[in-house]
Amino acid sequence: MSTTSEQKQDSRPTAQHNCVGIIVGGQLALMLGQAAQTMGLEIDIIDPDPQAPATGIARQHIVAPLDDAAALSQLAAQTDVLTIEIESVGIEQLQALAAEGHTIYPDPDELALLVNKLHQKRTLQQLGLPTSRFVELPRPSRKAVQAFGLPCVQKLQRGGYDGRGVQILRSASDLDQLLDGPSLLEAFVPCRAELAVVVARSIDGKVASYAPTELIFDSQLNVLDALVAPARLPDAICQAARALAEETISRVDAIGVHAVELFLSTDDTLLVNEISPRVHNSGHHSIEACTTSQFEQQLRIVTGRALGSTAQQHPAAMVNILGEPGSSGPTHVDGLDAVSHMPGVHVHLYGKQSSRPGRKMGHITALDPDPDQALARARQARGLIRVRGEH
Ligand code: ADP
Repeated sequence: MSTTSEQKQDSRPTAQHNCVGIIVGGQLALMLGQAAQTMGLEIDIIDPDPQAPATGIARQHIVAPLDDAAALSQLAAQTDVLTIEIESVGIEQLQALAAEGHTIYPDPDELALLVNKLHQKRTLQQLGLPTSRFVELPRPSRKAVQAFGLPCVQKLQRGGYDGRGVQILRSASDLDQLLDGPSLLEAFVPCRAELAVVVARSIDGKVASYAPTELIFDSQLNVLDALVAPARLPDAICQAARALAEETISRVDAIGVHAVELFLSTDDTLLVNEISPRVHNSGHHSIEACTTSQFEQQLRIVTGRALGSTAQQHPAAMVNILGEPGSSGPTHVDGLDAVSHMPGVHVHLYGKQSSRPGRKMGHITALDPDPDQALARARQARGLIRVRGEH
């Protein structure tokens, strides 16, 4: 009985925090908006694209560039708290708004630190968290790479995402095409698995993590193929991954939902690859598979509510739906009927008006008591759905 009254109290919007301003109105803002609707909250967004995915669900959409100080001020003034959907936003403007007293999670100073991969690695190192060896590479230099040693990974300090701005250097011939820009070099970690742990940390420092997600890459194309949660690894490793991710977020003093990407090396050592200061692809399955989705969790945190349970009820697999190669233009979707009766399969389309090759147009989550079955079904559903740009 007391649980019911506590839940009622938790889910009642507070006077201060009824509307959350989200910087960028993409698919993550759309899913935050969907969670907001069930929580009796509202969202406002700022996004330069008048047709951004979250536009239909937002109370108001301010159409403006992400570093437009006047537009950000307006968003801050008309909402109770600000949060972000991607990290490459106008951080200096957000720092100015925070200095004026506006509430922003994650803290813009934290964003400034995490958005730069070199600063992030230095922070991990200074905090004594396990991470691969690295050096700064201010400009492309064969000599510097050779001195560091091959194989290694070159990463642009800023601007890279989804594997862009990252390249593995295996042999001397790869040194002819170094990325042009301030970078860092990391020792190449031979991996048994790549994991991501979504961690929620509240304003008062309480921490809860979701079961680790296993990231499966297409080794030919070197792109993310699928995610499985919980990761198909021994319990002891999953527990250690959660503990390391929770410690990382607490040590960085981060507030909000973050994803901690981890490498499990071939000698079973866990290393922190990077921290993503927002809701994340690796937590999308939480919508159907967990008691509290990562989106509800983020809203609970930024509006000052208690953390929800991160318990996962069903093993899940998730695949992205990408725009088909070779076609760009107004979005056309085929195959939805074919998947509509597949058991445990949930299709999310982000309502993007135009499709282009490789653009994230949606995702599919499949639930099954057997994670291998969930993965097989998610891939099968992906094979049936085609999203292309049609003129
Ligand atoms: P992004 O922020 O673009 O996702 P990451 O730093 O996560 O970039 O790197 C993308 C991918 O490159 C990783 O998921 C991993 O497969 C590979 N990678 C990155 N760093 C290393 C490393 N030090 N050793 C081995 N593989 C790496």
